Amino acid sequence: MNVAVIGGGGREYALAKKLAQSTRSDIVYAIPGNDGMKEFAVTVPELSETDCRGIGDFCLDNDIQWVVIGPEASLEAGLADHLEELGVDVFGPKKHEAKIECSKAFAKDIMKRYGIPTASHRMFTDQDSARDYINETGAPVVLKKDGLAAGKGVIVAMDMAEALAGIEILKPEQDAPVVIEEFLEGEEFSLMVLVNGPYTHSFEIMAQDHKRAYDGDTGPNTGGMGVYAPVHHIDESLRQEAVDKIVEPMAQAMVDEGLDYFGVLYLGAIVTRDGVKVIEFNARFGDPEAQVLLDLMEDDFIDVLEKVKAKEPFSLNFRDGYKAGVMLASGGYPAAYEKGCEVDFSTVRADCAVSGLKQSGDAWRTDGGRVLLVTGEGRTIEEAVDAAYSNVAQITFTEGDLFYRQDIGGRALKG
Ligand code: AMP
Repeated sequence: MNVAVIGGGGREYALAKKLAQSTRSDIVYAIPGNDGMKEFAVTVPELSETDCRGIGDFCLDNDIQWVVIGPEASLEAGLADHLEELGVDVFGPKKHEAKIECSKAFAKDIMKRYGIPTASHRMFTDQDSARDYINETGAPVVLKKDGLAAGKGVIVAMDMAEALAGIEILKPEQDAPVVIEEFLEGEEFSLMVLVNGPYTHSFEIMAQDHKRAYDGDTGPNTGGMGVYAPVHHIDESLRQEAVDKIVEPMAQAMVDEGLDYFGVLYLGAIVTRDGVKVIEFNARFGDPEAQVLLDLMEDDFIDVLEKVKAKEPFSLNFRDGYKAGVMLASGGYPAAYEKGCEVDFSTVRADCAVSGLKQSGDAWRTDGGRVLLVTGEGRTIEEAVDAAYSNVAQITFTEGDLFYRQDIGGRALKG
């Protein structure tokens, strides 16, 4: 069958590659895709990921049977709603359901009403009351923009000065609320859950993302600067606690709220002294988590989609060992950066998931903030991290054009 992935980043690179490996796929389209995907997919650069009508027509014209939506922007644009109306099978929640990610306030409200463990919070629509609240509660505290911000609308303020500056940056307003929440301390992990109404299948292994831009978890939050899986130093009992106390009650809460969720629910969780709590939900695969998890997964992805659609119980099989990924990002990211810088990764091509690179002739040039996830695999986490960094060392670029964190997997290596 013909299938399509929507999006053009590293996560979609991994999804398209996984679909191309399925024994059941004929042509895999990536809409719009990126140049790196041309090895295994037909890219459609003329269509944008939020062009619902254009994508719908393309699916009908090209006999596409399954569409997997990567980015949150497509979900928010109502792409799943439109494709469902056209009778195309689509893996990704509809616009209303995607509010679980697209509106922090919506998600927090459901969690509060259904007793799902998360940081306590208040929502603000003006700067004065946000400032008064922070003066009252003190720091550390976390400020989150209500709408989509590509992982960059969150300020973790460790002191009052940062917290008050955060209000100036996020500017709560009537139509742009800001959620201010309790700072939670602990180890974070990401868990991908396949959801169809009350039915859930949580991935058997967890991943750990590295959200901050610089080493030692410093600097601004980003879309994700590195990743590894599985997370062996977080006990299976904590994953099970997340499934029992968060994932299953949340799926049921969504049903009770009249939501009809079909797709991946990403749980960003934190292990606190009071148990596992929700940091956030996303309505799609994590990026860069998808790049390592889908690669470790041995199952045929189209079979998996169909089992979730049919609400059949199953287990996923992951290759033994570990996979780590180091993100190369444009100098300056997540703030302003230049594009068009040359990168040569030809010797380690097979270990890279391309996100923000464009090909011109034989040369590859940067075209986005996060550029390339360079991965490595091994029997231990040490081996996987070493393999990833020795692959990074084989990539040539001009210093300053790109940067990367030197400490991916650090917590696991210590733990
Ligand atoms: P989010 O986009 O909500 O996942 O937030 C991005 C990152 O900010 C998370 O991965 C955490 O590292 C951090 N963060 C968010 N909320 C909190 C919180 N309540 N307490 C501590 N850190 C947080």
